[in-house]
Amino acid sequence: MPWQSPISPGYSWYEATVPDRPEYPAMPGSRKANVAIVGGGYTGLQAAWNLARQGVDVTLIDACRFGDGASGRNGGQFGTGQRAWADETEENLGHEQAQALFDMAENAKRYVLDFANTHEIDIEFVPGQLSVGHKKSLEKDYRDHAEAMATRFGYPHLSFMDREETASRLGSSHYHFGIRDAGTGHIHPMKLLVGLAKQAALAGANLFEQTKATKIERQSGTIVITTDRGTITADRVLVACNAYIGNLEPVSASHVMPIRSFIGATTVLSDHPKVIPGGESVDDSRFVVRYFRKSRDGRLLFGGREAYTADNPLDISTHIRRQISEIYPELANIEITHAWGGSVGITMPRTPFCREVMPGVTSIGGYSGHGVMLSNYCGKLYADLALGKDTELDLLKALKIPAFPGGTRFRSALLFLALSWYALRDRF
Ligand SMILES: Cc1cc2nc3c(=O)[nH]c(=O)nc-3n(C[C@H](O)[C@H](O)[C@H](O)COP(=O)(O)OP(=O)(O)OC[C@H]3O[C@@H](n4cnc5c(N)ncnc54)[C@H](O)[C@@H]3O)c2cc1C
Repeated sequence: MPWQSPISPGYSWYEATVPDRPEYPAMPGSRKANVAIVGGGYTGLQAAWNLARQGVDVTLIDACRFGDGASGRNGGQFGTGQRAWADETEENLGHEQAQALFDMAENAKRYVLDFANTHEIDIEFVPGQLSVGHKKSLEKDYRDHAEAMATRFGYPHLSFMDREETASRLGSSHYHFGIRDAGTGHIHPMKLLVGLAKQAALAGANLFEQTKATKIERQSGTIVITTDRGTITADRVLVACNAYIGNLEPVSASHVMPIRSFIGATTVLSDHPKVIPGGESVDDSRFVVRYFRKSRDGRLLFGGREAYTADNPLDISTHIRRQISEIYPELANIEITHAWGGSVGITMPRTPFCREVMPGVTSIGGYSGHGVMLSNYCGKLYADLALGKDTELDLLKALKIPAFPGGTRFRSALLFLALSWYALRDRF
């Protein structure tokens, strides 16, 4: 029987195609560590690898299996920059900060590709990204964005596509225009996750699955993490639970909100050579963004539907197939072989959350759907921070991230209303 993540719905095409996914033991009993990490996604495992290879005694625990959260199940798209466009950030924070945040994301992109190359992890990187517009009224914004990136942010890889070019690169006339980004691409997320965990183990990190943290508290100068397998006493702690934080740590939970997102994988599209012939990944301008691409073996991996409650829809495939057929009517009856979902951690301003939530305890997450490259890099930056170095995490710490309104009782309901309203606007 394939393993079913207890925290994310469905069995993913990534799980089905990763050659082997080693299991790690549960924590055998109480222990000590210089640094303890809660959460075995990209953020936590990158921190563990970087610390262990520099001789730090590090223990990482995950409540489930590594990659059961977002890191093993996402759309695999790198994108460019932060979630918000750099020119939008420029309007709010000024050019210097916007440029620094953009440069950080470019460093993140290089970091992930270098990491995979150095360790010969076949992450199935395919270059190219198409960002396409579903409303004609957005065309000027897209044109201005492509120009601003080249002229003000030193990023020359974007080119505006008219309707004709957009249609031929997509194999669909559903969208009005788009931007092609030749400076980024997409990957097989689970292959990166599995390769990363192996490197962390090889470097000497103590890695434990099936070990759930239930409390984090300071006790006479150290930090004690209570788990269902004993305690960890540490000098420093990284909370890397992102959207799956639950009620483990209240400051992170009030600033990072989970949104469910779902993906379906079709059968191989051998009879449809016109669908994304250049192999780029695609994201669209909807608030409930649709993101899709072809896998190396020629399937369409299509993400779209969102849910603002923890309930899982009974039938992910039907909804995904409906969205596919709006863009590719010829695929209206395509078989969906795998359908799955996971929780994206968002913040109010859609910029990552990084904060010392109690002395010695840092929490990082809330990449707002843009975490494939950023979470890996933030894990590395956390290791640098723990080793006393200056890091670009200071840029994130300086960002003003408000808590979601409504307190723990009403937050989800308010978010549901607000996001449903924006989702409705996608239709008009
Ligand atoms: C469906 C989907 C599509 C996405 N698509 C994209 C995309 O195309 N591009 C992009 O850039 N980003 C995308 N993302 C976002 C991206 O995947 C995340 O930003 C990134 O993986 C976050 O990594 P992380 O390590 O911070 O968190 P996660 O990978 O979510 O890991 C958190 C871990 O913490 C563990 N945990 C939680 N609580 C506890 C506890 N109490 N004790 C122990 N362990 C605990 C969980 O078990 C989990 O393994 C997508 C996300 C989803 C869900």
